[in-house]
Amino acid sequence: MGFELGDISVRRVIETEGPEFDPRRFFPDCDSGALDRHRPWLEPRFLDPASGKLVFAIQSYLLRTRHHTILVDSCVGENKARSYSPDWNMRGDTSYLADLAAAGAPAESIDFVLCTHLHPDHVGWNTRLVDGRWVPTFANAKYIFARDEWAFWRAKSAKHPTKYDDGAIRDSVLPVVEAGQALIVDQDHALDDQVCLEPSPGHTPGHVGIRLASRGQRGVLSGDLIHNVLQCAHPQWSSAACFDKALSARTRQGFLDRAAETDTLVMTAHFPSPSVGHVVRAGDAFGFRFRE
Ligand SMILES: [Zn+2]
Repeated sequence: MGFELGDISVRRVIETEGPEFDPRRFFPDCDSGALDRHRPWLEPRFLDPASGKLVFAIQSYLLRTRHHTILVDSCVGENKARSYSPDWNMRGDTSYLADLAAAGAPAESIDFVLCTHLHPDHVGWNTRLVDGRWVPTFANAKYIFARDEWAFWRAKSAKHPTKYDDGAIRDSVLPVVEAGQALIVDQDHALDDQVCLEPSPGHTPGHVGIRLASRGQRGVLSGDLIHNVLQCAHPQWSSAACFDKALSARTRQGFLDRAAETDTLVMTAHFPSPSVGHVVRAGDAFGFRFRE
């Protein structure tokens, strides 16, 4: 579950992987004709034949650069009340922190937590419940939130604490800010000479990707700019969870166009394992060549 990109070590820490969402609900533009056309290559790896649901990984990327130990996105977490998915509600006794330690990074060793955006499946382990209070899980880390994303969700959560973010800002972001561990940065913030943010708005207003560069090799953690391999074949399909579906589609199309012209390694948030690969052209759309 790991590889090197130049001298950056990349490890995936998987919280869950399995059937998660009905494709026609998740992608409002997906109809049964399109689904049937793709079914032969989708099943069973990307579409679970038994449940008819898309297979999703929910995971963090652990990056170790010359300078820093960085966790990108922090999954669903434990003890979080979530109505969006019964699988996400009040999880307990998971192996996530042990798995992170086994990947070489106990919680106290994390220097930075980067969130591509502030949805519940990307911020959950930001905090954990200790003596009835939400406290930052990564005691020695600074948590990096893109300014536009933070501004949007702070305002939404202040008015409607659970309506839009399922409570995630209140239990997984605000406690980090209140503890003085948040760094609110520009959308194109460079963390160091190997890691920088890149704006990719649409799924959420301040969504960012994370660009990596080391020794002539390039990669990008794409977050929820793209959720599923089906969107390589249909870049215009935005998810039901996308805030601005038209902008999400434009951002995705541009991203795929550029990625297909380069050897940039794309590290997706939710594609099934190994989740990482290269975008290739396929007719007037795209395909994804996994790095097996
Ligand atoms: Zn997500």
